[in-house]
Amino acid sequence: MAVKRQLSMVLDLNKCIGCQTCTAACKLMWTNRNGREFMYWNNVETQPGLGYPRDYQNMGGGFDADGALRLGRQPSQEDYGIPWEYNYEEALMTGTDPWLRPHVKPTWGANWDEDQGEGDYPNSYYFYLPRLCNHCANPGCLAACTRNAIYKRQEDGIVLVDQERCRGYRYCVNACPYKKVYFNEQISKSEKCIFCYPRIEKGLATACARQCVGRIRWIGYRDDEEGPIHQLVEKHKVALPLHAEWGTQPNVFYVPPLSPSKYAADGRELDEPRIPLAYLESLFGPRVGEVLDTLQAERQAKAEGRESELMDLLIGYNHAEMFKLS
Ligand code: SF4
Ligand code: SF4
Repeated sequence: MAVKRQLSMVLDLNKCIGCQTCTAACKLMWTNRNGREFMYWNNVETQPGLGYPRDYQNMGGGFDADGALRLGRQPSQEDYGIPWEYNYEEALMTGTDPWLRPHVKPTWGANWDEDQGEGDYPNSYYFYLPRLCNHCANPGCLAACTRNAIYKRQEDGIVLVDQERCRGYRYCVNACPYKKVYFNEQISKSEKCIFCYPRIEKGLATACARQCVGRIRWIGYRDDEEGPIHQLVEKHKVALPLHAEWGTQPNVFYVPPLSPSKYAADGRELDEPRIPLAYLESLFGPRVGEVLDTLQAERQAKAEGRESELMDLLIGYNHAEMFKLS
């Protein structure tokens, strides 16, 4: 879907510390009220893991190899996790219940499997994967909407749901393979990440990127050859989309994570990364190995005091320079 310009984000997974500051910044700004309580327009999940909503990677959606739209399934309330309240009044004020407890028995929620990962000591591993709407170039959500309520803005390619046109049919929820459209039962309409467009229009980065403690996020336009997105995606070729095979052409890209070596049973360090390459390829496609080799070589150069334009860019010395919004 051609637009005049496309705003994009790159996230360096080597720098994410899983602090959830981005999640909190997004939630406080957009989704802590009015039927959006269960929504996380930005979430940070542990991989390997089931993600949010639970097992979203196996719910379908997107496009098949011939470009035909696939309607996947909608997550259930349990897949999101039912938000719970605590008995503060009884436990803390009146003393009629000796225990502070949730009002439902929680069985799942965002980060339910945080920091679990895979493997056994000393070869256990995990990494953090922040996720938001990819503001795709070929959005499944948009293709599925029978009301033409979902559109891409010409000036920046941000994907929005026109709240006047939406009738809450939820085909968009089925069709987004990333499950980044949510149905608001209070108003019977679909809602999603808006890439903080009111901030973007004022020249400010999205809340998730501006508040990012690890400085892992860059924002810019795809066609800006001096900008960080072009540099990381096209020039250095170290940022990859998540599940490109789902056919939506995401505009959020990830620098994949390096990992320490594995150890043999006798304690010897092996020449094999702890995060299996095949696993990373299942997320970010066949170029991951090549990208990791580039990162390793550039990291080594920097460590030895040699020049590395890529490492200087990835370090992000100046947070404000990580956002190029014009
Ligand atoms: Fe639509 Fe999902 Fe792509 Fe966002 S990630 S634009 S909701 S298909
Ligand atoms: Fe990762 Fe940044 Fe979010 Fe912290 S704020 S979890 S470092 S993306």
